[in-house]
Order: sequence, then structure tokens, then C-alpha cells
Amino acid sequence: MSNTKIIVAGPRGKMGSEALRMIEKQDHFELVACVDHKNGGLAVKDIEYLPNLDAPIYEDIEQCFQEVEADVLVDLTTPEFGYKHTRLALEYGVRPVVGTTGFTKEQLSEVEQMAEDKQLGVVIAPNFAIGAVLMMQFSKWAAKYFPDVEIIERHHDNKLDAPSGTAVKTSELIQEVRDQKKQGHPDEQETLEGARGADVDGMKIHSVRLPGLVAHQEVMFGSTGETLTIKHDSINRESFMTGVKLSVEKVLSLQVLVYGLENLLE
Ligand code: NAP
Repeated sequence: MSNTKIIVAGPRGKMGSEALRMIEKQDHFELVACVDHKNGGLAVKDIEYLPNLDAPIYEDIEQCFQEVEADVLVDLTTPEFGYKHTRLALEYGVRPVVGTTGFTKEQLSEVEQMAEDKQLGVVIAPNFAIGAVLMMQFSKWAAKYFPDVEIIERHHDNKLDAPSGTAVKTSELIQEVRDQKKQGHPDEQETLEGARGADVDGMKIHSVRLPGLVAHQEVMFGSTGETLTIKHDSINRESFMTGVKLSVEKVLSLQVLVYGLENLLE
């Protein structure tokens, strides 16, 4: 079987550079190009802190797709560019694996439709860490019995979107099993705007941003005389790479959008 040819968008980023190191270690993966908004014309190996790989860097993603044959685009950029890159990849017949968070519901539906029209696989995973996927699944299970729930997510302060994609995904999974309920006292009032966090279907999401953090989430359930907290911590970005690798392998045989790593696990 031939190697899977991969383009990485966002190679200098914290996630993108980790993805390059993961790809370098796999015998069946080949980095064929990178897309960055800087360093066009250089190769990955020309950038001091990146792996010694000969792949060219393109600033124009369309030019990259036109000149380089690839199977998969791994996108780890920003919400604005991630969406644009995903659409263009599908137009050029390249399967996207998207870790970039912050896609709106409308954007997800559009990508789903495009994937179906083109019969091409797409994986969009708000969290590639297996432990985080389990945390979300355990939370969904617990919400059946504990409808009182609040989500607290904590991330580094360079994160652009809030709440995190993981928190949004968790709330969506919980909504599948929880009867709609407004959290807190029916007459509660915020004397400081935002004190009670964001509201999803009556559930509250609180976003903390501090240097030193990576990606962390607690889902807190309360009931009569007891609380249950389900907690996950990514202590470094290598934690996400098992999921990126699995998604690249699986996307090759998909013809639809798969949203969430849990849908790729046995
Ligand atoms: P980061 O360190 O800021 O990396 C983003 C990179 O994208 C930067 O190098 C940035 O360059 C580059 N970039 C910006 N615009 C670009 C464009 N048009 N084309 C190509 N590259 C571009 O952020 P990160 O922590 O790696 O996170 C990247 C994304 O992954 C975010 O959306 C984050 O929320 C998400 N994330 C997902 C997971 C998951 O498991 N799914 C886990 C962690 C993070 P400049 O710095 O020069 O602007």
C-alpha cells in the first residue's frame, strides 16, 4: 500500500508542529507540503524548530492543491482559515482532517453537504485526545441521571474561540439525553454581566483563559446531597496526536463528514 500523502496547514503552530513530528514518525505517512501565511518558498527543514523534512511551504493554498498531489489536509490554523481551507480541500478532492475549532453550526452543515455531494470523507474533531472523548461520553451517560450540570473549560490564553469546541460538543452530547432545564434559581439575576457563563439549553459553560494551561475541562453534576465531577486534562499537545493519526487513517475510507473522534472509535 502506498504512503498517505499529507498537507499540514498551520505548521508553525503548537498543534501543527506537533502534527509534523507525529507524521515524521509514521512509516506510512508522508508530508508532501505545508500551508502557512509566512515562509512561502521555503521548505519545512529551513525553519529552525521544525522537523528536518523536505516538504515545500505554500502561502496560497489553492496553488498548493494545484501543484501537489495529496490525500489528506490536516488543518490546525484559526476558525476563519480552517473553514476556508476545508472547503477548498474538498473542491480539490483532498480529504480534510480538521482540528481547528470554532466552526459554526451553519459551517458544519455546509461542510457536511459538500462532503456528501463530493462523496469525500471529512473528519472534524473538536478534541483529538482519547481521554477527552471518554470524558465527553461519560458526561453524556451521567447527564441521564444528573440533569443539573455546568461545564468549566480552561485553556491557554492564546486560544481564539470561546467556549471551546470541546465544551460545545459536550453540551450537544448532553442535550441528546437531558430534558431541557434552566440551571440555577429561576429568579437569579446577574449583577455583573457574564457571571453565570454562557447558556446552552439552560446549561452553563464557563471559559477560563490563563497562561500555563493547555486544555482542561470539568463537567460538574449536582444532585441531592452529592456532586459528581468528570475531569480531563491535556498536559501537552502530544495527547492530541493519537487522534490525529487515527483520523488521517480513517478519513481515507469515508465518504461523509464525521464530527467528533468518538464516532471513529470502536
Ligand atoms: P497556534 O499555535 O496559534 O497555531 C495556529 C497556526 O496557524 C499559527 O502558526 C498561525 O500563524 C497559523 N496560521 C494563521 N493563519 C493561517 C493561514 N491562513 N494559513 C496557514 N497558517 C495560518 O494554535 P494551536 O494551539 O496550534 O491551535 C490551532 C487550532 O487547533 C486552534 O483552532 C485550536 O483551537 C485548535 N486545537 C484543536 C485541538 C483538537 O484536539 N482538535 C487541540 C488543541 C487546539 P501565526 O501565528 O503567524 O498567525
